[in-house]
Amino acid sequence: MKVPWLPKSGIEAIAADVLAGYEEMIGAPVAPPIPVEDVIERYLDLRIGFMDFKKTYGFHGVLGAIYVKDRLIYADNALLADHSEGRLNFTFAHEAGHWVLHRKFVTHAEDSRAERTEIICRKKDAKKPAEWQADFFAACLLMPEKWIKSAFEKSMGARPLLLHNEQRSLSGFLYIEPCVCNWPIIARSIQNTGGFSNVSKQAIIIRLQELGLVINETTAEIGWHRKQFAT
Ligand SMILES: [Zn+2]
Repeated sequence: MKVPWLPKSGIEAIAADVLAGYEEMIGAPVAPPIPVEDVIERYLDLRIGFMDFKKTYGFHGVLGAIYVKDRLIYADNALLADHSEGRLNFTFAHEAGHWVLHRKFVTHAEDSRAERTEIICRKKDAKKPAEWQADFFAACLLMPEKWIKSAFEKSMGARPLLLHNEQRSLSGFLYIEPCVCNWPIIARSIQNTGGFSNVSKQAIIIRLQELGLVINETTAEIGWHRKQFAT
């Protein structure tokens, strides 16, 4: 599916508009944890379900899909089985991103037949523009910039955190050594301070880097183990 280029600020503003519309609908302000399923079901008027994608399509690596014409969002059964609320919510928010940003392009996709209006999201396509945009939308929806910045300031201070080494050396209960390997501690601190209880620590550390609040000055990549995906 070909989609036009969108600046990050544009996607951020579109996600903020969705939340503003949701707030207007419920007649109350919203704060993290963002009730993403309710936003999707009541505000965007889409249905949510689960599917065994391996069984349905015969290939691995599908996390979710949206059937635009039917207004249906599916997440893979495995996400439910993993009890990973963070990954599940991110998948739902990602599919909501396709709805908001891309539904009008679906029927024009190169490989589509007239009756095909679904977007199947495969891990291997994560860097393609439509997938990247939906991921960024999901991050903006679940972790609005003002809430992340406020949590960061309360938790870490006014200045960006520079990750400057690769070695673990915690030097006190309240002080977090800003080394790459301590990223889960940094993410958990933001999670607790900002109420991002339905977002994974992985998604939080990526968001912090995108917003320039955490800067990795080392050559080491921030890596994670499967267990750390969970919220
Ligand atoms: Zn996708």
